Amino acid sequence: MPDAGEPVVVETAPAKLNLDLLVTARRADGHHDLDSLVVFCELADRLELRPAESFSLVLEGPTAAGIPAGPDNLVLRAARLLAETVGVAGGAAIRLVKEIPVAAGLGGGSADAAAALRGLRRLWGLAIDDERLRELGLGLGADLPVCLYGRPARMRGIGERLDPVRGLPDLPLLLVNPGRPLPTGPVFRGLTGPFRAADRPPLRAGPSLVQLAVWLAESRNDLEPPARRLEPEIGRVLEDLAALSGCLVARMSGSGATCFGLFGDRGELQTAALLLRRKHPDWWIRPTVARGGP
Ligand code: ATP
Repeated sequence: MPDAGEPVVVETAPAKLNLDLLVTARRADGHHDLDSLVVFCELADRLELRPAESFSLVLEGPTAAGIPAGPDNLVLRAARLLAETVGVAGGAAIRLVKEIPVAAGLGGGSADAAAALRGLRRLWGLAIDDERLRELGLGLGADLPVCLYGRPARMRGIGERLDPVRGLPDLPLLLVNPGRPLPTGPVFRGLTGPFRAADRPPLRAGPSLVQLAVWLAESRNDLEPPARRLEPEIGRVLEDLAALSGCLVARMSGSGATCFGLFGDRGELQTAALLLRRKHPDWWIRPTVARGGP
């Protein structure tokens, strides 16, 4: 029996990182088709869920101040959607500890909503399968399906088409955000096209870290130009990341403004973090590792 104060279900909500992101089409409904290699970081939010008669949410953690505490929080929206879909009458007392910066291109809200769906499925003992959960999640946001999957994947369409990417190495990454939120909508609206099918070669199976870096260097994030127009500091972040010793690739994630530097090993990564923090004490700078896998 758990103690009264013990969490019953704990879920981590890892930050999502787009190693590249090609915008391949604009649909008639205004949505965009993407082709993106997505990985998940050790940097994560944490959700604790306990059974309760109604839903409640307590927010904690260093980045909690930037998000809604009420019904608009994606955690509560996901919880209500699941309860309505499966016909659960009860609720849950949820505690969310935020570590992921908000409106930063790291999919924090989607990661939290995905963790809520996974956690409630466990808490309520639901028989709903992964595919149905992903369909449900897509209604809340394009990044939900990949965040539910939670492992390296090639994401296509508006986010509904996922192919597992196996055999990636663990990736030492330096995440850097210049400290200003950048909403996703205006970045997409700044895209001018023309859009075309992804033109990068396929990634070889089981690449080494250096092989992956060489492949990535040939690719890009198509949201970088419109994001840089809205937040010119992104250009400075990318320049300073690329200049750090051992940085193999520097790029923006998602719709920004967080950028990453990929490093060859964790020692170089820690040194780079120290140097950059000394130069930019006002930036959010976080070394992390994105998990590869079998
Ligand atoms: P994406 O990469 O999916 O565009 P992002 O990392 O740029 O996402 P989020 O951190 O997910 O952005 O925040 C997007 C918006 O969602 C913000 O305006 C925020 O207030 C709102 N939001 C609602 N619930 C949450 C939550 N649990 N965590 C973060 N943001 C939330």
